[in-house]
Amino acid sequence: SVPLSFFGGIGGASKCGILVKGANYLETLAKAETVVFDKTGTLTNGTFNVVAVHAEADVDPDLVLSFAAYAETYSDHPIALSVKAAYAGEIDRARIKDVKEESGHGVRAQVDEHIIAVGNEKLMMADNVAWHECELTGTILHVSLDGSYIGHIVIADVVKDDAAEAIASLKAAGVKRTVMLTGDRDDVARAVAEKLGIDEYRASLLPQNKVEEVERLISGTSSKGTLAFVGDGINDAPVLTRADIGIAMGAMGSDAAIEAADIVLMDDKPSNIARAIRIARKTMGIAW
Ligand code: ADP
Ligand code: MG
Repeated sequence: SVPLSFFGGIGGASKCGILVKGANYLETLAKAETVVFDKTGTLTNGTFNVVAVHAEADVDPDLVLSFAAYAETYSDHPIALSVKAAYAGEIDRARIKDVKEESGHGVRAQVDEHIIAVGNEKLMMADNVAWHECELTGTILHVSLDGSYIGHIVIADVVKDDAAEAIASLKAAGVKRTVMLTGDRDDVARAVAEKLGIDEYRASLLPQNKVEEVERLISGTSSKGTLAFVGDGINDAPVLTRADIGIAMGAMGSDAAIEAADIVLMDDKPSNIARAIRIARKTMGIAW
């Protein structure tokens, strides 16, 4: 039987906007030794702004942005939303056919008679398209038209207000290892990890690589300790399931992530993770 104090713990947590789906999760969370984060939408706001549009010689930058916006029309990815927001024009959906989104890569779409690809280096490499790197650091969206490179869009995301505090309070609570996993570029990942004081990061990961990383990290966790993963996206559902404890962002998070998670943070604040651990330990009567 479940001790009554567990219900007190779940109730106390829910008052702070921390929804715990079952009493057993408090026990697992109380032992969190490693906390792994997804980057976009979890540690960052996930609302990218377009910083610059670079077009190849003889290409109009507006054309690069409009083709990208057309190709991203049906995508809900935070990157797609930023491109559509930056493109002021209207989108005539009749011009778009045959859209294919490839997780961790980008999108391909037929717009008029053209095949447009918008995404990262992996997507360009798959099509044998050579891209031109600019010196700017940031998340880069390469754009190709019928297999020819036409330019790239630089987008930037900002870290959440309480993200640094969230990492510091996890360390203060005795969490031994903090790790960030992302499909984004190494330079972007390094900047975020350094800014927030995260111990380790892995970049350029595909969704299945995130599951493999979490499995590796679980095997590196002591027998007494557990691993918690915190994420928000559709792609995060398999990792949320694989972790000892899965924590999802509830407000901006995807339905798939919320469904797969054991704990949901209603206000999307990463600082609530340390709070949840403290509540869990108190409920379990674990002194720290
Ligand atoms: P994260 O790990 O930061 O949550 P994702 O796994 O969702 O990111 O995506 C990883 C990378 O794949 C992005 O940084 C981007 O380069 C590319 N990507 C994914 N979806 C799209 C899209 N709709 N449009 C363009 N690029 C995309
Ligand atoms: Mg994500």
